[in-house]
Amino acid sequence: MALQKRGKYRYGDGQADIREEIARYSKANEYPAHHFADAVCRCGRTFRLLLDEDEGAAVRICAACSDEHPIGDSGDFLAEAELDECACPCGGERFEITVGVSLYEGSEDVRWLYLGCRCPNCGLVAVYGDWKNEFEGYQQLLARV
Ligand SMILES: [Zn+2]
Ligand SMILES: [Zn+2]
Repeated sequence: MALQKRGKYRYGDGQADIREEIARYSKANEYPAHHFADAVCRCGRTFRLLLDEDEGAAVRICAACSDEHPIGDSGDFLAEAELDECACPCGGERFEITVGVSLYEGSEDVRWLYLGCRCPNCGLVAVYGDWKNEFEGYQQLLARV
């Protein structure tokens, strides 16, 4: 598995490629991500994604059972959020979703969050949002992806 660059986009053939893209993107952002979690519903791994990057809130909706789940601590920010539905440049609106976090040095506390997606339709992998997140204890945050 490896990312392939075509034009300005990168493509991968599996969900694990999202981690590679988050790693690349986060390094350039100077807050490298080292911990990751994949979004999984009891019935599958593809979701619609609603996002407000400014507010730091994202909601995933399972493509199979329509269950709505605020990603990480997004539930705390939904009141102020204006969520937009994400779409792939190919027109696809279903994604595999992986979150990566960057931690403070020598700490378990989160400094920055990255939300990465892969479109199962065309394989495009990208970071759809990233924001400052100050959650204390990254494992609890990643458990709510
Ligand atoms: Zn489901
Ligand atoms: Zn696509």
